[in-house]
Amino acid sequence: MEADNTTTTTTSTTPEPSPPVFEGSCFCRSLSWRLEGEPLISIYCHCTICQRMNGAAFVHGLHFPFSSFSWTHSNSDAVAISQPTSSHPWVIYRCKTCHSYIGATNSNSKVWSLKSAHLKRDPTTNLIKDFDKIKPTAHIFYKTRMLDVPDGLPKWDGYENQSNRLDLP
Ligand SMILES: [Zn+2]
Ligand SMILES: [Zn+2]
Repeated sequence: MEADNTTTTTTSTTPEPSPPVFEGSCFCRSLSWRLEGEPLISIYCHCTICQRMNGAAFVHGLHFPFSSFSWTHSNSDAVAISQPTSSHPWVIYRCKTCHSYIGATNSNSKVWSLKSAHLKRDPTTNLIKDFDKIKPTAHIFYKTRMLDVPDGLPKWDGYENQSNRLDLP
């Protein structure tokens, strides 16, 4: 009697356009996360909160819906959380080990606010993988900028489409 060893390896993958996947991590890589799909918002933010939080002239900020985000590191105790304040109504997430500021969640709008700087790079170009899927559409809070960025994108003195558009290149 012979056993039937024919393993059917017919994994016919239908070529459907799959949503982009982005992988993020903190400086020490104790924290990592995955984002599936395209961002709701992609902007360069020049606000003083982003400047102070990140020690940077401006940041490339991304908003993703809660459903796009999942943690991928194993140690659930690796995340430090700060509760919202009246001036900043967001829950803030940091790495407990390297203290990197990862991002923040807003339970009202159900969005994650994250930074592209944490996302995985393409090993050949060193550019952020699939950057064309997360390209910024505007500069916001441009009045508190630390440098001019004449890149042709719209400049707003507050949030995109909710404030005054500045007549600047
Ligand atoms: Zn870390
Ligand atoms: Zn900002």
